[in-house]
Amino acid sequence: MKFGGTSVGSPERIKSVVNLVNDDKPKIVVLSAMSGTTNSLVKISGLLYDGNKEADAEIDQLEDKYKAVVNELYGNEENRKRASGFITRRFNLLRSFSGHPFTAVDEYTVLAQGELLSTTLTWLYCEELEIDSVLLPALSFMRIDRNGEPDSYYIREQIDRELKLYPDVKLFITQGFICKDASGEISNLKRGGSDYSASLIGNAINADEIQIWTDIDGFHNNDPRYVKGTKAIRELSFSEAAELAYFGAKILHPASVWPAQEADIPLLLKNTMEPEAPGTIISSKTVDEGIKAIAAKDNITAIKIKSGRMLMAYGFLRKVFEVFESYQTPIDMITTSEIAVSLTIDNTVHLDKIIRELKLYGSVGVDRKMTIICIVGNNIMHCKDSISKVFKALENVPVRMISYGGSRHNISILTDSEHKLEALNQLNKYLFTDGRKRHNHPGQD
Ligand code: ADP
Ligand code: ASP
Ligand code: MG
Repeated sequence: MKFGGTSVGSPERIKSVVNLVNDDKPKIVVLSAMSGTTNSLVKISGLLYDGNKEADAEIDQLEDKYKAVVNELYGNEENRKRASGFITRRFNLLRSFSGHPFTAVDEYTVLAQGELLSTTLTWLYCEELEIDSVLLPALSFMRIDRNGEPDSYYIREQIDRELKLYPDVKLFITQGFICKDASGEISNLKRGGSDYSASLIGNAINADEIQIWTDIDGFHNNDPRYVKGTKAIRELSFSEAAELAYFGAKILHPASVWPAQEADIPLLLKNTMEPEAPGTIISSKTVDEGIKAIAAKDNITAIKIKSGRMLMAYGFLRKVFEVFESYQTPIDMITTSEIAVSLTIDNTVHLDKIIRELKLYGSVGVDRKMTIICIVGNNIMHCKDSISKVFKALENVPVRMISYGGSRHNISILTDSEHKLEALNQLNKYLFTDGRKRHNHPGQD
């Protein structure tokens, strides 16, 4: 059971989480940092990198927040003292970075404090209620390899070893997000990575179910941050969920589906604020035909390579792909014409070098600040009207690329990011309502 930042965002919420997990079923509870904490730690890291003295004030401010949490969470003076002592040690560690050169490992250490704080405070609350529980240190089992991929064998071995130490315990609490790297240094699974921690752990222990508890009643059919009137989907297949998560549905970390899919463990999305609501179940089962959901991924760069030499030639695409491969840059979308190929990337670290090499094969054009709108469903190709509704919805949206037919389950559209809101709302209107009602964009009221 993984609980996100809002779910443990206040003393009140921590109490509800403990109430939710306190039953007889054996479980591992994975916690994120309390909401806002990781953002504060990112800010503090930035200031420490710059040698900016304001870091100290930010650290003090964050510590004050935690002192207030401790005062409210515990009824017992002894526990308050234990929790305060822990907080003081974590924040003194943060202060110790001030005034020294700041390294990447220091940054990972700073970012890890949020999860270390939330799990310890929650575990101490269990102690106060005399609930038998163990705080499992994620840094003793969660590890990534040299390519930044989870080291599944190591994770399984180490969790197994840890769990065997407590044969009678049913409730384990551990940190999401944080891990060690191949050299044993502290690292993390990228922003939003607690979901990924939970599904990796679920896979490692072959859990019956992986539950992601968050602040919304399941996977919605469109991004609720940009569209009003979105609805929760009851069932999704692993592939549908993976595609939506990869293409921007923030409810799940992009990589968090595969560990569940690989072990065929259902992934259940639930709302901590409304535990009775059914949520969304993600499994190997595919239900219903037609378009189910839309997601959007920003910060996309489109690259066009145009060359007369491509005409009737073979081997051209291979040469182009090899350039991206040599810079370990994944391609998301691709479309071709007889004399040009357009493709998109989101990792632009090596863009200059990639462009320089591509210029050997033709003229190269680059469009930045683009957004991929990903439309996902089951057997879309065979559903009457699907594609015509998409075109109708996007009548006034300048479309830069379309990818359709790569699978039966997906249509991807590339547009300028400034048209994202319009595209998401128009698609919502045509695909998920009767098309007549007008919808305002949230944030534009
Ligand atoms: P947590 O802190 O629990 O991990 P997140 O903020 O990472 O929560 O993810 C939940 C948020 O994801 C929701 O509050 C919602 O704003 C956003 N979101 C974006 N797309 C979707 C979607 N398709 N369905 C549900 N929520 C979505
Ligand atoms: N606390 C981390 C973050 O904010 C991990 C997570 O919430 O999943 O990115
Ligand atoms: Mg999240």
